[in-house]
This record gives sequence, C-alpha cells and structure tokens, in this order.
Amino acid sequence: MASNLHFLIIPVMCPGHLIPMMEMAKLIAQQSVTVTIVVTPRNAQRYGSVLDRAIASGLPIRILKLRFPASSESGLPEECESMDDLPSLSLFKNFMDASAKLQQPLEQVFGELKPKPSCIIADKNMIWTSDVARKNEIPWVVFDGTSCFTQLAIHKLWLSKIHEKMADSEPFVLPGLPDSIVMTKTQLPGIFNSGNSAKAKEMKIAKAHIIAAESGAYGVLINSFEELETRYIDEYRKVKEGKVWCIGPFSQYNKNNLDKAQRGNKASINDHVFMKWLDSQHPGSVIYACLGSLTRQPPAHFTELALGLEDSGFPFILVVKGGGGGEEIEKWLVEDGFEERVKGRGVLVRGWAPQVLILSHPAVGAFLTHCGWNSTLEGFSAGVPMITWPQFAEQFFNERLAVQVVGTGVAVGAKRVVHVGEEDTFGIQVKREDVSKVAKIVMDKGREGEERRQKAKYFKEMAEKAIEEEGSSQLNLKLFIEDIMLHTNKGLAG
Ligand code: UDP
Repeated sequence: MASNLHFLIIPVMCPGHLIPMMEMAKLIAQQSVTVTIVVTPRNAQRYGSVLDRAIASGLPIRILKLRFPASSESGLPEECESMDDLPSLSLFKNFMDASAKLQQPLEQVFGELKPKPSCIIADKNMIWTSDVARKNEIPWVVFDGTSCFTQLAIHKLWLSKIHEKMADSEPFVLPGLPDSIVMTKTQLPGIFNSGNSAKAKEMKIAKAHIIAAESGAYGVLINSFEELETRYIDEYRKVKEGKVWCIGPFSQYNKNNLDKAQRGNKASINDHVFMKWLDSQHPGSVIYACLGSLTRQPPAHFTELALGLEDSGFPFILVVKGGGGGEEIEKWLVEDGFEERVKGRGVLVRGWAPQVLILSHPAVGAFLTHCGWNSTLEGFSAGVPMITWPQFAEQFFNERLAVQVVGTGVAVGAKRVVHVGEEDTFGIQVKREDVSKVAKIVMDKGREGEERRQKAKYFKEMAEKAIEEEGSSQLNLKLFIEDIMLHTNKGLAG
C-alpha cells in the first residue's frame, strides 16, 4: 500500500508500552507508511538495536529524540527515563508530569516533520498529545495497551458505577459483558478502587483524566486479535462506533531470534549457557516465572513464589528484579542457600529476561505471569498454559480472560490489587502451597491438563493465522491505514 502517509507514534516510556509501540511502528512501516517514533535519548539507545535493524532493512522509520526533563525539573533520579528505572511506582505522577513536558519541544519541531503527519498514534497515558493533534488538525488515535475485554469492562463499570454499592470483598457480576464474570471491588483497577495511600489516590485522579480524554479519541488501536476475544471486540466496537482496530499480537511478528532476544532490553543472561540449559530440558517440563517489568514484590512475598516453585518439583526459570527490597531478596537467594539448593533445576535471571524467546522454546510448559496485558498475550501467542498471579492495574481482568474466557490459565488465588504504597499492608496473599498446587494442576499430564494444552495450542495457531497476509490483524491494519488515508484526503479536498 504505497502512500504519502506519515504517522507520528508517541509512546509512554515504559517497557509494557514502548515495546508494543515499537513493534507497531515496524508493522505500519511494512505497509509503506512513513513512521516517526518519539522517544528520549536513553530509550533510543535501549531500543536502538531492534529499530536500527528495522531501518537498515529499508523500513521507512524515523526516530525523533526529545530530551527528557532533567532530574532538577522532574524530581526523578538522574538518568531515569523509563518507568522501570523508577525506584518506586510512587513516582508515577512525577514521571507522567515529566513526560508531559515533551509537548513544547514536540510542537517546536512539528512543522519540520515532512510530509506533514497524517495522524498521531499516542499511548493513552500521554493525554497532552491530543492537544498537539487538535492544533494541527489531524486525528488523535489512541494506542491502548490492554485488551478489548478490559476496555469493555472499564467502560461498562464507568457507566454503571455498580462497584460503588459493593463492599470491598463482595463478589458481583461485571455489568454488560458477554460472559458472567465475577469479581470483587478489591480486584478492580485503581480507578474504581483506589486504595488508601495518598499516592494511590493521586494515581486514581490521573487515571480518571486518562479515561475522560480517551473517550474523545478518533479511534483505538489494540494489541489483540479477533479470534481471541471475538465477542468482546464486537461489543467494544459498538461503543467506539466501529473505530477499533485489533492488529496484534505484535510479539508474534518477531521472526528472528535476535529480535526476540533483544526485545525491550539487553538480556541479562549468558544466551549460550542459558539456551543450552533450556535445550537440555524435556519438552513442556519447565515453568517460566516472570512478573513483568514493573512489579517489585516485597521480600516476604517473593520468597513464597520462589519456595512454591521449588516445592512444585518442576524445573523453572525465575526472573528476579532489583530495586525495592532487591538487596534483601538477593541476600536470601544467596546467603540463605536458595540458589544453591535449586542449582541445575532452577535458573535465576537477574534483570531482564528475553521473555518472548523463552516462551517460544519447546521446553517451556507453563508461564507464571502477573497478567500484564503484553505478557498475557505473549502467553496466548506462544501456546503456553498460564499460572496467573495478577498484581496491579487491570491485571485481574486479564486473569479472568485467561482463566474463564480463553480457558488456558489457572488462578493462583490472588485476592486484591496491590496498590502503590500498600505492598505490605495486607500480608501474604499467595502462599508457597498455592504456587506449588497450581503449578501441579497446570503441568498435570492428565485429561484436564491435556485439554488446557490443546486450547493453548489452538490459540497459538489462531495468533499465527491472524498475522498472515490475509489474516484478521493484517486486514484490520489495512482498514486502519485506509481510514486515515480517506480522512487525510477529505481534509485536503475540503
Ligand atoms: N519483559 C521482558 N523481560 C523481562 C520483563 C518483561 O521481555 O524481564 C517484557 C514482556 O515480554 C512484555 C513487557 O516486557 O512484553 C511487559 O509488559 P506487561 O504488559 O506484561 O507488564 P508490565 O511490565 O507493564 O507490568
């Protein structure tokens, strides 16, 4: 589809948003649309190898680097340009305020962007970008980093306010969804259940602004695919008057191992030794456990996870993040002998794991996930059954989708969202026995486990089909580009 279209992509600087938006940039550029992606210098460096390869392959991608406000202006630590660099998510608001300061430098260079951008595709959290789009009379398209299931659930709750009549732990059916999905108020994202700390309340206000702004968007791009959540996509399209385009799963478009391995960051493992270990394991025998890029469990919670994996008896990979209680965790892993005890059977990845590469390895039989949307979708796409342990934001919705609608997940039993500043307030939610019990259920070789694996395999195949030339996501992408083209031409004619 040759065109003189030019899309400006503006991500929020956080791996769970930047990774999919980078992948989306490549996808759009493959349709001969020029794409400019706005990032800060440190992020340009972090994601550079993947982008440079895409540009070298001839894709029309440009990188517009804008300086992130200095520490003295933002109140953030030095050199902190990505949300996973924050020592704590309590700095969320400072980070978003600093990100909003990119507006002025962007407006200064906007006129020099050639051809004139035909639309802005912005992360929903970057609401200031709607101003830039309005001033330049181009559509403001939102990239929403979640599923249509989540979008629909949030929309219906926002309208009905049914949760306001509920006691915290009282189960109720989410209104207006195609299935009967039961949740409690404590499991809802912060916008409906803010928690008590000042920081959590501050976050709730920020999220309310985002929801209000999002309702004015021209349309929504979603990293999902038609076959995964058909009825939810249909319903959400009605809400958005048709302008919802599901064009994922993005991770599935990474065909070479280098792109998979360098996705999001430099992996902190010795690829060779690590892959050799994975190669030596039986097919479907390993549990891969990673709680995303932002979760920092308090030490007492983390040890339950680690001990649960140990007790399960299966080989495992456990991703350990620094920050927060990182030093205490490290001491426990080393000095208290955990790492030594599980040597050979359990591999610890300290820092960044090449998740998509790991999930695509035949030795992996289950994915213990925090249900961030990217991770959940990567689990579906890899055809790997999931052990679900949601932590915050909309992750309980993703859990319900995996467990109840798609049917490839089993819940470990988390009861409430962990709000910023309240990580230790409600004690241990999930115990080692819960982890090892659910691990055994998911890895079970009996009929139930086999049925779950078959379902997972089916959705993997559907994900692969969706991104083929005539697949649903490719068709949706073309429809989206045509829509913007029509809109642009109308503007020129008018
Ligand atoms: N990720 C990764 N290695 C890590 C941690 C995360 O590759 O060690 C990737 C993961 O594959 C996913 C993204 O980072 O694409 C995390 O996004 P998600 O929505 O799952 O969770 P978040 O980090 O936003 O909580």
